[in-house]
Amino acid sequence: MGVVTTDEIFTWEESKKHRDYVRWHGVLQFINLWKKSKDRKNDEFKWGDELEFTLVKFDDEKKIAKLNLISHKLLPILNEKETANPNGVDCIWRPEFGSYQLEGIPGQPYGGLLSDFKIVEKNMRNRRLEVMEYLKSDEVIMMLTMLPRMGCPNSTDPLEQPSPNSNDYASLFVAGNTVNQQFLRWRRTSVNLRARRNEVLAINLPIFKDKNVPEPFREDLRAFNDDGKCEAHAKDDHVYMDATGFGMGCCCLQVTFQGRDMQEARVLYDQLTPFVPIMVALTAACPIFRGYLTDIDSRVLSCIDSVDDRTLGERGLEPLKDNEMLIRTSRNGSTEWYLTEEGNQYNDVNLEYDEKLYQLLRDHEVDRILAQHIAHLFVRDSLCLNSMALQSNDETDTDLFEIIQGTTWRTMRFKPPPANLSIGWRVEFRPCDIQITDFENAATACFIALLTRVILSFNLNLLIPLTKVEENLHRSYKRDAINKEKFWFQRDITRSETEKKLSIDEELSELTIDEIINGKTETFVGIIPLMNSYLDNMNVDSETRCTIQQYLDLFQKRASGKLMTDAAWIRKQVTSHPQYKKDSIVSDRISYDLVKKIYEIQMNTKQHPETFLSY
Ligand code: ADP
Ligand code: MG
Ligand code: MG
Ligand code: MG
Ligand code: MG
Repeated sequence: MGVVTTDEIFTWEESKKHRDYVRWHGVLQFINLWKKSKDRKNDEFKWGDELEFTLVKFDDEKKIAKLNLISHKLLPILNEKETANPNGVDCIWRPEFGSYQLEGIPGQPYGGLLSDFKIVEKNMRNRRLEVMEYLKSDEVIMMLTMLPRMGCPNSTDPLEQPSPNSNDYASLFVAGNTVNQQFLRWRRTSVNLRARRNEVLAINLPIFKDKNVPEPFREDLRAFNDDGKCEAHAKDDHVYMDATGFGMGCCCLQVTFQGRDMQEARVLYDQLTPFVPIMVALTAACPIFRGYLTDIDSRVLSCIDSVDDRTLGERGLEPLKDNEMLIRTSRNGSTEWYLTEEGNQYNDVNLEYDEKLYQLLRDHEVDRILAQHIAHLFVRDSLCLNSMALQSNDETDTDLFEIIQGTTWRTMRFKPPPANLSIGWRVEFRPCDIQITDFENAATACFIALLTRVILSFNLNLLIPLTKVEENLHRSYKRDAINKEKFWFQRDITRSETEKKLSIDEELSELTIDEIINGKTETFVGIIPLMNSYLDNMNVDSETRCTIQQYLDLFQKRASGKLMTDAAWIRKQVTSHPQYKKDSIVSDRISYDLVKKIYEIQMNTKQHPETFLSY
């Protein structure tokens, strides 16, 4: 997000009155921005990561790990250095959804030289160390996709009680004060999202069916003060959750890349899209939700279902009314539209958009494919509108564009230059869970950065139909998907068979992650072998090559099953805990021991050989 500076955010009822205005002017603002930046050329390759951190407080006496709700106190202090010296800091701190979360990015983006890969891990580590200076002895900052017992009783400090029947962040499990207390936009967004949906949220994740899990597994939600509304949406054998925090409150790693011009950014957006599910499986780190082991390994599914603001009509469950249209997906999900001519052949979803908005874009000569993408973005409504945004100037501002763009959380984001045109066309790769060590996070960011170089330099073609990408995404987060699932993939990524003019069906194959990453004799070359031949042709100093090699080893070994994902390792910690009763319950004590162990690994006082090799 980033543009909403005031917290006087309209309620959904108020917001609704402005929906046509927001859509029309949001699109106009995009058009004006596009006019100013469409011919921009030769921007440097720059890139940078975003890491979302969790603030944890340990009760060492009672052995409980809690979410530490202090971001509103910490962030102003952390921002002081940047305010005093905007271009001279090592890292920059930004607010996040949770009042137990912080987002940290490098002080400056990285550049085009591969030797920059050497500083990524150190910068990530320094970010944490910087925050630690301001923490008390029982407080820590961690890399954790989600605290295992987030949403369980007594899991926050200070202790906050949920208020299921209030009009302000109603949830059976999570209190409103777990949401950012300094910038109210996330809380209002959540409340408005729920109001727009006009029904409780229904996040149902299949429970891990260990030996002693009851058949069927079904919680008594009345014990959480449910009046029956949630009960109706909770599925048998699933862990039910009802708050945006179970998705938006998870921590991820994102990487943004600048293209040399709009076309190159569009190529990267398209080519990285089919790789999203592959990276989800390779970086899965979130098997526990609300104190239960689930059959899910990553945060992806709860992210999708936690921000589904569609009405019953839009979901096809009730007749359409008030100019509604059917909308296929939640605000969070897979890429829905490729942006290049080449990609357009693989655009096989029925993209919804308002014909008037599409025509407005076309009248200003925005090309057909991009016009469809932007018009489709504006099927969403603003959930955090304020009067300032309504007063924004269509010629010079982009508030109404950003307000929709910034709250449509797809796994990839196509980012036009900001209103001040200080930087160029970028794409953001967004699906990865945060990893539990700096090493793995650096490896992940650098792996994707290297992939962009390889895609461009070898003119690779990873494209497959978007419905297949979406199908892959729904395979990628399942338990042990990395070893068990196959994924639709382009067979001819190096275009060696182009002369044969294969049909789209002939191009498709189903491969394991091992085959995709490490190659399959003769028939599929593999991503890492391609990366290695790219590196062989580059003049890389030996230290850089060595750093990159360690990162490639991590993914090579994860893909081949020699190393575990964080999710698999976390599962193992639970199932081998002496107090674990094979009932998929992650008790306070199990959670505490697990979180402590992860913390020790992060501080490098304990080795962690099963998920990665070396530091
Ligand atoms: P958002 O939250 O909107 O996704 P952030 O500003 O938090 O974006 O972070 C975006 C990332 O992009 C950071 O890692 C930052 O270093 C990086 N970045 C900044 N400028 C550029 C640029 N010109 N090209 C590519 N990446 C950039
Ligand atoms: Mg950010
Ligand atoms: Mg973030
Ligand atoms: Mg977030
Ligand atoms: Mg981001």
